[in-house]
Amino acid sequence: MDEVRPGRCPACDAPSRPAGEPVGLHGHGLRERHQWGPVELGAAAVLIGILARRYQCQACGAVVMVVPRGIVRRRLYSASAIALALALYGAAALAPGEVRRRVSPLRIVGATAAAGWASLRRWSRAVRAGRLFPVVRALPAEATLRQVAARAATTLAAYALGGRGLSIDSAAFLGASM
Ligand SMILES: [Zn+2]
Repeated sequence: MDEVRPGRCPACDAPSRPAGEPVGLHGHGLRERHQWGPVELGAAAVLIGILARRYQCQACGAVVMVVPRGIVRRRLYSASAIALALALYGAAALAPGEVRRRVSPLRIVGATAAAGWASLRRWSRAVRAGRLFPVVRALPAEATLRQVAARAATTLAAYALGGRGLSIDSAAFLGASM
């Protein structure tokens, strides 16, 4: 538990272990977080649940959760999986059903979901609204969701270290976890 305990409370800045005093951030149980999608480039998509450790600040009562990098709050898919999907949709211009086949770990989908992929539209709209990957510059209001997805892909791909020579979907996958 000590290995991942934050140094101070992000809410009130109280140190997690003040000298000579009891520990300020107490362990507060575990919560499951999801990280769906391929875990590395070219790998098959998988369903992963990660147990995140929680701490409670004894000074202000805030509950702090420590999660591995690449976890996007309130989303099932990993940041890399979402970036890959946006690149395949926006930059590689694949059909939504094909993007889903490559990124989603779910093999059984309903008849309507087979043709499109609601997650793809939801993520593109979230990027447009600045709620997902806020580093992506805003596009004009008339831009299509594919154009929004393409800009997200090129923006995230630029963060890939040593990404030169990689396809844009590979670079976006890597860049999103930076
Ligand atoms: Zn606090």
